Amino acid sequence: MTEHTPVIRLLADLVAIPSMNPMGRPREGSSYSEGTLAAFVAAYLRDRGIRTEVTEVSEGRPNVIGYIDAGAAQTILLEAHLDTVHADSMEIDPFTPVLRDGRLYGRGSCDTKASLAAFLRAACDFVESDRRPKYNIVLAAVSDEEYRFTGARYAVSRGLRADFGIAGEPTGLNIVRAHKGVTRWYIRAEGKAAHSAYPERGVNAIYTMAHIVTRLETLGNALLREKPHPFLGTPTLSVGVIEGGQAVNVVPDRCRVEVDRRTLPGESRAGILAPVRESLRGLEGWVVEDPHLAVAGMEVPENSPIVRTLAASIHRVSGACVVETAHYATDAGIYNEAGIPTVVFGPGDIAQAHTSVEHVEISQVIRAEAIIRDLLS
Ligand SMILES: [Zn+2]
Repeated sequence: MTEHTPVIRLLADLVAIPSMNPMGRPREGSSYSEGTLAAFVAAYLRDRGIRTEVTEVSEGRPNVIGYIDAGAAQTILLEAHLDTVHADSMEIDPFTPVLRDGRLYGRGSCDTKASLAAFLRAACDFVESDRRPKYNIVLAAVSDEEYRFTGARYAVSRGLRADFGIAGEPTGLNIVRAHKGVTRWYIRAEGKAAHSAYPERGVNAIYTMAHIVTRLETLGNALLREKPHPFLGTPTLSVGVIEGGQAVNVVPDRCRVEVDRRTLPGESRAGILAPVRESLRGLEGWVVEDPHLAVAGMEVPENSPIVRTLAASIHRVSGACVVETAHYATDAGIYNEAGIPTVVFGPGDIAQAHTSVEHVEISQVIRAEAIIRDLLS
């Protein structure tokens, strides 16, 4: 029975350990256990004699990195994130993995514990059977992909290196070789409070923000008219959150918006923010804050070694292979920025990620493991 293959058993174990990303909420209760999941993964690797590092990215939220030295000339990074999104609106028990109709259900089953299980099993298979993989392997299970991408960034800052890599996300076993990046920041309007009966004595920050938002809308529309990237389209800008004012009888002295900017590969932070500041010229009382989130877009050439070798393995195992591009951002943006050509690949359908009945097709998980094993052979 396929349900009893080691990779599916491992996936069920991973899903049973809740590892929700707090995503800005207080980290209370047992559902935010990225640390417990990290400890499980570390023990899984160490039990097989794999040299393993656990480093705390923030309190209770570590990265786990295992190193398999095959004495090979090249090193491959196999990465997947430990965290999942929230389980608030789930219609199934999020942390009791259920196998039904060839699927495994549970929060994180698709995004992205299926990739984690497939990568771990494929690599550990070599160790357990005392065979040498074709590459040295860096197995990375990182925290906080779903919110701030701090795990991958921390791993890179601590010297994570490889010749190429695969970031595990549900791509339906297709290769995603390019995706957009995302940069988010706040813009504050600062005014002067006064009683609302005497508005002339204050400076209304909401009125200031209204002008700012109009300028941002114009800027966003202009981006949509730029020459599109052949696969990724144009960059975008969207104001997604506005907050301001304390009470209706007070002229508000502050207002803030949060801006979401989707970027193309190669766009720099300065190149993103300069036009924003420029567009606000002539207005007073605003501050463009430094981005609190920035993941670069990425593009790995179609003929690069990682695309070609992974495509060949997919062909051998599945008989067909699709190389595509995506609009969502992943940890791969950070690894590419750090000089590690990294594609996105994994079992599961992105349409299932983050949903109320999240699940993954078991057959895809088993095939993903076989593909990675082929790649390492
Ligand atoms: Zn994911």
